[in-house]
Amino acid sequence: MSPTAQPAASLFIDGCPVEGEGATLPVLYPYTGEEIASLREASDDQVAHACRVAAAAQPAWAALAPVERGRVLTRAAAIIRERNKELSRLETLDTGKPIQETLVADWESGAQALEFFGGLAASITGQMIPLGQDWAYTRREPLGVCAGIGAWNYPSQIACWKAAPALAMGNAMVFKPSEETPLGALKLAEILLEAGLPAGLYNVVQGRGQVGAALTTDPNVAKVSLTGSVPTGRRVYTAAAEGMRHVTMELGGKSPLIIFDDANLEHAVSAAVLANFYSSGQICSNGTRVFLQDGIREAFLDRLAERVRNVRMGDPLDPETQHGPIVSPVQAGKIRAAIAAGEAEGARLLCGGPGEGAFVPPTVFIDASDEMTIARDEIFGPVMTTLVFHDEEEVIRRANATGFGLAAGVFTQDLSRAHRVVGRLEAGTCWINSYNLTPVEMPFGGVKLSGLGRENSAAAIEHYSQLKSVYVGMGGVDAPY
Ligand code: NDP
Repeated sequence: MSPTAQPAASLFIDGCPVEGEGATLPVLYPYTGEEIASLREASDDQVAHACRVAAAAQPAWAALAPVERGRVLTRAAAIIRERNKELSRLETLDTGKPIQETLVADWESGAQALEFFGGLAASITGQMIPLGQDWAYTRREPLGVCAGIGAWNYPSQIACWKAAPALAMGNAMVFKPSEETPLGALKLAEILLEAGLPAGLYNVVQGRGQVGAALTTDPNVAKVSLTGSVPTGRRVYTAAAEGMRHVTMELGGKSPLIIFDDANLEHAVSAAVLANFYSSGQICSNGTRVFLQDGIREAFLDRLAERVRNVRMGDPLDPETQHGPIVSPVQAGKIRAAIAAGEAEGARLLCGGPGEGAFVPPTVFIDASDEMTIARDEIFGPVMTTLVFHDEEEVIRRANATGFGLAAGVFTQDLSRAHRVVGRLEAGTCWINSYNLTPVEMPFGGVKLSGLGRENSAAAIEHYSQLKSVYVGMGGVDAPY
């Protein structure tokens, strides 16, 4: 029987499912290409209405005691955990990612964000500044209505990562998921309502890029948080600047993973596998430029090839499946074009290749150089490019020779070297002897073209709030005339 996942309606506005008035948006299961739901985009009027509703609901929410706001988020986290199985199945249908991943990585990460920011809400304070007789204080205040725009690789996690700090801080949100994966955000809206979130504070509008563009310039929107590619980030940042809106930009990367000769071989190979092939490689922070020091290169590649050969590809709903399909035929086509470009430029395939249908297998290039497109451009698929280096100074220079700056990893047993190298890498998030772990307690985000602002941790609160300074005069006022 074909899977179905038709929601009650396409949009969620003011606490209710609402049908979209715009163009049809078919939702396809990436594994089979079957239509699992048919949605409709929001019209311009519906986008504006959602923003007005959010603006109207926000002041009362911001006026609540923070501990009450926190309680709603914590309850939502508990509901997600109770329904994790059913939600994870939906995430697999929406994205094609293996159920063995979605059960542990997607909604669970979203629940952690709600739990973390729910707990944090009550401890957000200002500062008291003594000024002799007088004094001043600061208040951390919400921004108002925040727009969230998501990518398709971790749709429900992205929805939670944006909603949790925004709502904890007393903002309202209007969220637009990627047109490829519109279902998870609707579930989050239902769950938040059930957890006690008043109507109008978390709204979902569906649509392609132009709906995101309408949100970005809506007069009620004070902030835009985008997870997406660098070209979209440029457009959204430019449009937001017109209204002096705040932005968080979580964009793409081409991150280096540096393996020194003294690294623990097995762990380094595991990290490279996870850093390139988890979620079929559709992860922004992936370490897709794997720099191997010349002494470990051969052993590393032998072991990598051996382990990748055993990967189980197939039906994402089969709990044994480790490697699922690519999210859409368009995206699979882009990945295949990148693989063909790598071969045409003279790199050789150690394993993998273009694959067929919806699947691109784990693919590793050897004999590549820094100038090749496979070493420069983000591929956003399961394609690892290995590069060889000789010494520390050289690898730091080459690792930094990119416009991106999202993430980086270093594997070595020499901890002084690890910290020294990480200190010089131009990346917002770095890992030592680990890769791609993004606990909610740790700030996550990029530098250079990879973005602005931080998600997760207390740092995210700064990006969903503004500071008000209050000077308090305790005596009289002397004027010169
Ligand atoms: P896109 O940049 O294509 O789209 C991101 C979102 O922006 C989508 O919802 C898209 O809508 C929307 N959008 C497109 N045009 C506009 C516009 N002019 N104004 C407002 N919104 C717009 O990214 P993908 O969805 O293809 O995701 C892949 C990219 O996301 C990769 O580059 C990846 O590195 C990055 N990413 C970054 C992460 C991070 O945390 N740094 C995490 C995950 C992904 P629609 O899809 O409907 O066109």
